[in-house]
Amino acid sequence: TQYVYTFGGNAVSNDPRAKDKTITGGKGANLAEMASIGLPVPPGFTITTEMCVKYLAEGANFDDALRADVASALGHIEQTVGKKFGDAADPLLVSVRSGARVSMPGMMDTVLNLGLNDDTVQGLASVSGDERFAWDSYRRFIQMYSDVVLGLDHGLFEEALEIAKEDKGYYNDIELTSEDWKALVGEYKEIAERELGHPFPQDPSEQLWGAIEAVFASWDSDRAKVYRRLNDIPGGWGTAVNVQAMVFGNMGDTSATGVAFTRDPATGESTYYGEYLINAQGEDVVAGIRTPQYLTKAAREAAGAQAESMEEAMPEAYGQLAEVFDMLEKHYRDMQDIEFTVQQGKLWMLQTRSGKRTAKAALKMAVDMVHEGLIDEATAIGRVDPMALDQLLHPTLDPDAERHVLTVGLPASPGAASGKAVFDADTAESWAERGEEVILVRVETSPEDIHGMHAAKGILTARGGMTSHAAVVARGMGRPCVSGASALSIDRKTKTARIGSNEIKEGDVLTLDGSTGEVMLGAVPTIEPELVGDFATLMEWADAKRRMKVRTNAETPADCKMARQFGAEGIGLCRTEHMFFDAGRISSVRQMILAEDKKGRQAALAKLLPEQRSDFKAIFTEMAGLPVTIRLLDPPLHEFLPQGDAEFEELAEITGYGIDHLKRRADELHEFNPMLGHRGCRLGITFPEIYEMQAQAIFEAAIEVAAESGEAPVPEIMIPLVATKRELEILKALVDKTASQVFAAKGKTLDYLVGTMIELPRAALMAGEIAEEGAFFSFGTNDLTQTTLGVSRDDAARFLGPYVDKGIYPRDPFVSLDIEGVGQLVELGAERGRATRPDIKLGICGEHGGDPASIAFCEKVGLDYVSASPYRVPIARLAAAQAAL
Ligand code: ADP
Ligand code: MG
Ligand code: MG
Repeated sequence: TQYVYTFGGNAVSNDPRAKDKTITGGKGANLAEMASIGLPVPPGFTITTEMCVKYLAEGANFDDALRADVASALGHIEQTVGKKFGDAADPLLVSVRSGARVSMPGMMDTVLNLGLNDDTVQGLASVSGDERFAWDSYRRFIQMYSDVVLGLDHGLFEEALEIAKEDKGYYNDIELTSEDWKALVGEYKEIAERELGHPFPQDPSEQLWGAIEAVFASWDSDRAKVYRRLNDIPGGWGTAVNVQAMVFGNMGDTSATGVAFTRDPATGESTYYGEYLINAQGEDVVAGIRTPQYLTKAAREAAGAQAESMEEAMPEAYGQLAEVFDMLEKHYRDMQDIEFTVQQGKLWMLQTRSGKRTAKAALKMAVDMVHEGLIDEATAIGRVDPMALDQLLHPTLDPDAERHVLTVGLPASPGAASGKAVFDADTAESWAERGEEVILVRVETSPEDIHGMHAAKGILTARGGMTSHAAVVARGMGRPCVSGASALSIDRKTKTARIGSNEIKEGDVLTLDGSTGEVMLGAVPTIEPELVGDFATLMEWADAKRRMKVRTNAETPADCKMARQFGAEGIGLCRTEHMFFDAGRISSVRQMILAEDKKGRQAALAKLLPEQRSDFKAIFTEMAGLPVTIRLLDPPLHEFLPQGDAEFEELAEITGYGIDHLKRRADELHEFNPMLGHRGCRLGITFPEIYEMQAQAIFEAAIEVAAESGEAPVPEIMIPLVATKRELEILKALVDKTASQVFAAKGKTLDYLVGTMIELPRAALMAGEIAEEGAFFSFGTNDLTQTTLGVSRDDAARFLGPYVDKGIYPRDPFVSLDIEGVGQLVELGAERGRATRPDIKLGICGEHGGDPASIAFCEKVGLDYVSASPYRVPIARLAAAQAAL
């Protein structure tokens, strides 16, 4: 295997490995590419990632073959530049740069000016005719090499520089003379020798191999490992080493260094964007030692800055740069992030890569580039990260507005909201009803708070993680949410909260930024999202490419409406329990649960029937012409039980039962493990009148809407938590019987389907049999994940973080489907279901239906649709298109 590849000068290689990022790393591959299309790239060579992998396995026993290859590659540089490495009269200097497949902070920093020593510095001074430049370069080298290769504390060197400046009364590095730098070099060498116990390496060859080895070793540094873990980068990739002839941006006022983007990475505008510094070396621009100047005159003027732009100060070099920008964009067909240096008027390219960008810029560039003929629609679809759309779908804080940040919690649900602080759900609801905008502030939330969460503009909790109840529900509703703001302490009794020394009373205005986790005092103005223009265009292209349908999880007319605007093609999950929690109904629900017998239950259900019917009517009306999957009552009865004396008293008054009686009934219904208890279809089996009432409400509503609008909805009635065919058989018969009763009474019929959720491992395993009864399956992957992993989602926050950190699960399995494990059950369920009923409708309705990685899996398994919360619908549309490409 070839381990060393040269680039620049007359290095011509047809070996595709030279430009393969997996072999020569991103930096090396792009340097070779730029050189081969004729751009001015200082010559150099790359030692491959494979050598790094070998080094990490075998240690530093570099063999003669490698040493010979490096020597001859160095010869290539020497020949091209016309200087010799280590030549005291006219030395070649190089940079040593790390570069993995993907840009990866955490690995070794670049060493510049390598090859300088006490002799070669003299040669550099006389050849350049610039003593100051030579000594400045030497001191930079000693400092960088000591820091990144020898592992010495860079603070020691910085301190020495600061003292030298103080002694001379200087303020800026620019003020140091060549004598000053020379004196400092002496001090630097002393520091190094003292710390190392031996002199700073003077032999250029020793310097070079030391740096090469340090790059390889840095792949396994703690910093790099942490970064890899956070970004899912395999440890087996390794990094390449790039050794490249130095070019100098610090050779006086005709020299400069800079970084640039070929388009504006914040807005996507097609204008050159960047910064540069005259008389400076690479890292000076990023390090903030001096304030960099603008690239273009227009940018400088827009910023009202004084210092000349590159366009004005070095028009010729700028002209070359602008040409390079155009060439690079045409070549890579993407916005590039580049590094360049101008040495005495001549432009050199040091790096290029596809630039990072905001969601807004990604959209604009993708659409613009299609219109410019640079890329096709499929490429444009692939260019936009679906999750990044989230940034665009919610109102955001006006970036120019002032913020008084009290604390920062977890960015649990994106978007921004301002409103008056309230500390309980009922107040949130009643204030909202009289037209106030409120922020619901809670220690944590539970299903009983749903109505308050819905009424609130935003939700703030002191406890709970990214998958806490508050976070999941808020994301589902599209409410901004900051969770786990641990600095927040709440006193419900006095209706006050405290963050540090700030007291927040009920009614005080707060602003939340759910995208950053910031909690602010007072109102901060927001700006509304725009779903037009580039966004609409890209979505249209995506819709044309995807196979799977995208539905939404919604249960209120407002959510349905929003989801339709976002492009939902039906409802994949309409939960009915939220309707039961509504303020006016909860007492009827409790009455039903606590009733002693069927008669008592029926009396309570009779009160709920018209309410349910009007709920469904409103939803069917919003979703006219589209399929609507309604899940019959699912949560454990336990969750509806009254709590606290006040609730029992209220119920006693309505029902006429004594409080003791009610409390005894409640005790009987108490469950130790409600999520595995009396819930889902088990309710339908034991209390058939509940499901009967719901089915009746659905059919009556559907017939009424069909009559009123002429467009008959197709209800898909979904039975939750089925484990056996028999459960579904019994309940389907109940639904069918109810349907025929309603149809007979109304003299009208209607198409409908009865199906089930597959959310228990047994159901997935028995899917073949269950499909004999069910016309559709919806994979309820929230519960399926809970039951397959044996992990309670509500309690997982405490250990899931560490689990993910340790790589036990690659990602939170409630956020991104555990494809390896739970995925098998989905695949199996789909397969067995289809074997029995080839036209069975298959969908997914867990949180995963809005997660791009999970959506890609759904495409692979061939599901017919995914269902996501309204704000995730556009994300799912784009992800489904990408999955289908
Ligand atoms: P990073 O990945 O941190 O950007 P780089 O290897 O790209 O590290 O280099 C750090 C800085 O040094 C950049 O500004 C780069 O342009 C500059 N640089 C690297 N090699 C050379 C060289 N041969 N001549 C001049 N400047 C260089
Ligand atoms: Mg760089
Ligand atoms: Mg479920």
